[in-house]
Amino acid sequence: MIAKPCSITLRMKKLQVLERRILPNHPVRQDVSTELSNRMAGYKGEKSLDFHLSMLSESKYYIFHGLRLKYRKYFFQLDNFLLCPSFGLNLEVKNMAGKLHFEKKFNQMVQTKKDSSARKTNPVLQAKLQAIKLKKWLKEHNCPDIPIYYFFVNSNSKTRIVSESGNENVTQHICNSELLLDKIFQIEDTNKADLLTVKDVRKIKRLLLSNHTSENPDILQIFNLTQKDIRTGVQCPNCNFIPMKYSRGNWFCSSCKEKSKTAHIQAVYDYFLLIKPSITNSEFRLFLHIDSIHIAQKLLGSMNLHFTGSFKNRVYHAPPFMEE
Ligand SMILES: [Zn+2]
Repeated sequence: MIAKPCSITLRMKKLQVLERRILPNHPVRQDVSTELSNRMAGYKGEKSLDFHLSMLSESKYYIFHGLRLKYRKYFFQLDNFLLCPSFGLNLEVKNMAGKLHFEKKFNQMVQTKKDSSARKTNPVLQAKLQAIKLKKWLKEHNCPDIPIYYFFVNSNSKTRIVSESGNENVTQHICNSELLLDKIFQIEDTNKADLLTVKDVRKIKRLLLSNHTSENPDILQIFNLTQKDIRTGVQCPNCNFIPMKYSRGNWFCSSCKEKSKTAHIQAVYDYFLLIKPSITNSEFRLFLHIDSIHIAQKLLGSMNLHFTGSFKNRVYHAPPFMEE
């Protein structure tokens, strides 16, 4: 069964808002779009893998997507992890196009597309490193020792993967989505004995889920931006125009004539994601282009946000679902 479903991460949500709100001709804009589209491609790759993994026995396997755990001082992330009573399996999933060439020398991977060729982080080594970290992490949490296998799975069916002979150490850990089930059945064949009881497996499942920590990056800092690089104002839900104007209970878009009673909600969420997870009345007025302290209070109040402080110094906090 799926113990932790595949979801759009906080970093991706923040990138989406930044892409909508960064100044149109900003030099960093393209970098933001590139990172977002790479991450969305990865997300789609993982989603497509779910179809293949759904063929596995529901009662035997727990499937975890996007686990992020802390080992000693540092975090490591497992794109997809499968746990059953006899072994664990880490799957590093990518959706890479073109030709992937695994070179024996220096253990490199070179990706060739139409007219360009670039060295990329070797995903097999990545998968291996994560498996090693997980093994250490489980040991430190007093879990019984189980073998942890690992694969790099490329979910793009058009991609050609090539390797030099003598590189089997690496290539035996590569497969495409269609072959994945066969590979898992092979591992099952060589690991017939249960090393974990049902209780052990459940305990590890709980341990993994309760220690998972979502990455919550300061997205402006990552791209070396400040609030000045961001377009403030309420954004039109229909055409993305900024800013909508507020008048007598409605937000109006001067570009497409859209009318909305609730467009400020997204603007506040955007503020939480880009700037910080709380907002005051004066910050609200600045960000949403509202002059009246009373209208600001009415709109903020209508959102049922958790708040602290007395009226004048009231601070409204982001809902918990925005920090996952
Ligand atoms: Zn509009």
